Amino acid sequence: VTAILTLNAGSSSLKLGLYDDRCRPLASGLVDRIGPQATLRLRDSAGFDLALPQGGVLTHAEALQTALRGLDAAFPELRIVAVGHRVVHGGMEFAGPTAIDTTVLSRIADLVPFAPLHQPHNIAGIDAAMRAFPDALQVACFDTAFHRGHTFAQTAYALPGAYFDKGVRRYGFHGLSYQSIAETLSATAPHLSRVVVAHLGNGASLCALYDGRSVSSTMGFTALDGLPMGTRPGQIDPGVLLYMLQQEGLTAAEVSDLLYRRSGLLGLSGLSPDMRVLEAAGSDAAERTISYFTTRIRREIAALAADLGGIDGIVFTAGIGENSARIRAEVCAGLTWLGAALDPARNDLAKRVISAEGSAIELRVIPTDEEGVIAKSTRAALGMHPQGPSRG
Ligand code: ADP
Repeated sequence: VTAILTLNAGSSSLKLGLYDDRCRPLASGLVDRIGPQATLRLRDSAGFDLALPQGGVLTHAEALQTALRGLDAAFPELRIVAVGHRVVHGGMEFAGPTAIDTTVLSRIADLVPFAPLHQPHNIAGIDAAMRAFPDALQVACFDTAFHRGHTFAQTAYALPGAYFDKGVRRYGFHGLSYQSIAETLSATAPHLSRVVVAHLGNGASLCALYDGRSVSSTMGFTALDGLPMGTRPGQIDPGVLLYMLQQEGLTAAEVSDLLYRRSGLLGLSGLSPDMRVLEAAGSDAAERTISYFTTRIRREIAALAADLGGIDGIVFTAGIGENSARIRAEVCAGLTWLGAALDPARNDLAKRVISAEGSAIELRVIPTDEEGVIAKSTRAALGMHPQGPSRG
């Protein structure tokens, strides 16, 4: 089988997607909790479902090797011709999918200081794939690229200009997800011109789409800004951070840990970063946390509607957006003044269109497919580089 592999390497997980040469999904896999307790799960559309017993998988390279052994058993004579990588940060330079050679790889590494908790793992995934498939084309797909057309006002912080020139800017993230939604909208709802997309997962952000192009995003220089998330606070007065450093005596590393791992839904509830747990809990703290989450989402939807000069549709996607009828209902209930009218029955069934007849705004649920976007971009790059990446 001639195939394209997609890789999404996180701090302790590796997600794989296997696609045929027409970008139809063949299989997907997840190596979770990379370390002494790692687990692997592989499945395909025909129903094979392979869970490997826990074992020590200590590096991304070992995780990839382990997953490939499983895929080899299911797909004899598998020939991977290209590997598409999710890379969180493309900086000022990368505005689209890019074939990776040694120069590109070193530019991606130059961006580590902009995303120190994510970019190194993406690079580890690229290293592992280059070793496993030295002849395959490697393609980087950036989460920032989709937002590159933003205006100066949407890009700059009101800091001295020298910082802007150094790259201290608003970039926006979740771009592969927004591209997936924009493609689905263009195929199924081309009448919607001004759309706010709510990507509500462990990470959460909103994107304003005008005719399928990103106009603004709630995320900025890092993936900390905007909405509260599983363990990140979202928008916060920078003065709070000065207080943490100057009065509480936290080190920079402790502030980073606070912002990336201990805040958000987890910090507010004291219970869990997981929306399913919070919805089931029913405690005052959990209910207050859910209300905080939906309040901030409503507020930011209105802000992005202002960026668009009005709004024709709202799309919910990712783990919470696709699965939580309650969160969708509570967000929409506060947006009647904008013209949003939810159909509760359609919402409970997670239909594609969940707005009521006559709603001034169309409300939709669209599953995101970041892996599919990576596969298609990788196949397109393969068309331009049939012999693999240029060398030298
Ligand atoms: P990631 O950003 O890691 O890809 P996901 O998009 O999978 O995350 O979203 C994970 C979030 O989705 C978790 O908070 C999880 O609780 C939530 N979620 C998944 N299914 C449901 C559900 N049925 N009801 C409420 N929340 C859900």
